[in-house]
Amino acid sequence: MEEVKKKTHFIKSIIENDIKTGKHQTIITRFPPEPNGYLHIGHAKSICLNFGLAEEFQGRCNLRFDDTNPAREDQKYIDSIIEDVHWLGFDWGEKVLYASDYFERLYEFAVELIKKNRAYVCSLSGDEIREQRGTLTDPGQDSPYRSRSVEENLELFTKMRNGEFDDGTHVLRAKIDMSSPNINMRDPVLYRIKRMDHPRTHDQWCIYPMYDFTHCLSDALEGITHSLCTLEFEDHRPLYDWTLDQVDAPCHPRQIEFARMNLNFTVMSKRKIQKLVENQYIESWDDPRLPTIAGLRRRGYTPESIRKFCSIIGVSKKESRIDMGLLENCIREDLNEKAARVMAVINPLKVVIENWPENETQALDAWNHPKKKEMGSRKITFSKEIFIEKEDFMENAPKKFFRLAPGREVRLRYAYFITCNKVIKDNTTGEIIELHCSYDPATKGGDAPDGRKVKGTLHWVSALDCLAAEVHLYDRLFLNENPEAVEDRDFTKNINSDSLVKMKHAKLETSLAAAEPGKVVQFERLGYFCLDLKHNYSKKPIFNRTVTLRDTWAKMKLKG
Ligand code: ATP
Ligand code: MG
Repeated sequence: MEEVKKKTHFIKSIIENDIKTGKHQTIITRFPPEPNGYLHIGHAKSICLNFGLAEEFQGRCNLRFDDTNPAREDQKYIDSIIEDVHWLGFDWGEKVLYASDYFERLYEFAVELIKKNRAYVCSLSGDEIREQRGTLTDPGQDSPYRSRSVEENLELFTKMRNGEFDDGTHVLRAKIDMSSPNINMRDPVLYRIKRMDHPRTHDQWCIYPMYDFTHCLSDALEGITHSLCTLEFEDHRPLYDWTLDQVDAPCHPRQIEFARMNLNFTVMSKRKIQKLVENQYIESWDDPRLPTIAGLRRRGYTPESIRKFCSIIGVSKKESRIDMGLLENCIREDLNEKAARVMAVINPLKVVIENWPENETQALDAWNHPKKKEMGSRKITFSKEIFIEKEDFMENAPKKFFRLAPGREVRLRYAYFITCNKVIKDNTTGEIIELHCSYDPATKGGDAPDGRKVKGTLHWVSALDCLAAEVHLYDRLFLNENPEAVEDRDFTKNINSDSLVKMKHAKLETSLAAAEPGKVVQFERLGYFCLDLKHNYSKKPIFNRTVTLRDTWAKMKLKG
C-alpha cells in the first residue's frame, strides 16, 4: 500500500540501518492486541505501522493476541479484531497467533529464572506488595520471602500451577532490585494465581503470566526483530531487556516506542468506550459515532481513507492530539472520487407541478458522477408530485436566499425550471405542507433556451416513484475537543445530545432499493451516506451519514 511507504520516520530509519549493517535480513514485526474490546482508530495507527513496515521491507507481521488476562477477555473481541485487521487490508502468515499458545514455554522460562535464582515465590498479599514497592522518591523494601531457596521456590511454583493454593495467596516475582529508580524493576510480579475460564485454554491453567513477562518472551519466540509499542512502555523497556537477558531466549528483539494517536472530540481507550456501551450512551461497540474500526466501517469509512489518515499523521515520539477534521477530510476526499451521486430528500416538502399532466411521468437522464462520465448514468422519474427539502423553501426569503420562495424560479437538478405560485398551509398549525409550482417545458435538462439564468439548483425526488427510508445524521459524540475537560474528568457529561438525529420520513430515488449495505453514495447537496451494515431486509432501510460535503465544524469555528 504505497501511501504508507512515502513517509519516512525514525523507526523506518532504524530498520533501514539494521538491514544495511546486516543485523537483520528479514524484518518481523507484530501487532499484539489484548482481546478486551474492539479495535479503534488508535490501533489502526499501530496496525498500519507494523503491517506497513513488514510489507515495505518484504518481511512479516504477526497478529498475536495478548490473551493473558481471562477476566476481561472474550471470544467476540477476538473475532472482531481479526475481522477489523483484515478489513483494513492487512494479512498475516498462515495463522493467527496467541500468547496463550506459549503458556507452557513461558512456564519453562519461569522455571529457568527460578533455577537461576532470578525469581521467587512471594506470599505477601497484593496490598502488601504495593505498600512495600516504595515511591518515585523512596526505594522499596525487600519481601521477607525474597530469600527463599531455589528448591523451595520450585516446589511452591509447581504447587501454584497444580492448583494447590487459593487465588491471590502467592505470586512469582522477578528478583531484580527493590531500590531501582525504575519502579518496574522492583521485583515485578511475573505470575499470579487466577481461577478463571480462559477463552482458549479454558481451565487448563490456574496461573497466568503478566504482560511484561509474556510480551518480551512471545516476541522472542516468534523471532520478532522490532517490537513497536506506545510510549507508556518506555519505562518497561529495562524489564523487557532484563527478562530476555536472563533466560536462554531464541533472540533479543528491540523494543521501540512511539507516541499514541489521540483524536479530539472523542475518547479512545477501550475502558472508556466500554463505559459508553455499558451505560447505553451509545448502541454498541460498532455505533457509527465511535472511533472504533467497526463503528467507522458502519459509518461508511473506507479502509483506504483510514490508511491515508494514518499515513498523514505519521509516526513520532511526540504526543499530540489530532483534529477530527483531518480524519473527516480523508474520507471526504476518498468518497468524492469514488461515490456515485444520487438524489435523496431527507426532510421532505411536497411540490405539486400545476401544469404537468395528471398521471404522466418522464424518465430523465442523470449522471452518476458529474466529473466521471465513465461512471455512467441512470434514469430518474419526474412526475406531477415531487419532494424537495424543507430547508430549500422560505416564505419570506431574503434576497440572497437562492433557493425556492414565492414567485421565484429555481432549477430542479436534471429536470426543469420551476416557479413557486402558491403556498399551502395546515389550517390549524399554519405549517407549510405543500407548494404549488409551474414548470417551464423549454428548460428540460436544466437550461433555458432564452438564456435566462437561475441561481439555485435543488435536488428532488418524485413523490410517485420513490423509496421511503430513515436517515441517521451523525455528529461528533462530544461537545468538547477534550471530552475529559470537565469536573472529575467524567467525559459522559460532555456527550453531544444531538450526535444522532433520526430523520424518519426521508424519500430516496428508487435506484437505492438496490443499495449495498456499507457502500457509500453521495446524496447530492447533502453529504455521503450508506445503507446500514445491520440492514434488515424486512424493515424500512436506514441510511447512515458518513460525513457532510463540507467541513461544517471548521466553518462554524471561523464564524466564531
Ligand atoms: P486502550 O488504551 O485503548 O485500551 P491498549 O493499548 O490497552 O489500548 P492493546 O490491545 O494493548 O490496547 O493495544 C494493541 C497495540 O495497539 C499496542 O501495541 C498499543 O501500543 C497499540 N495502541 C493502542 N492504542 C493506540 C493509540 N492510541 N495509538 C497508537 N497505538 C496504539
Ligand atoms: Mg493494553
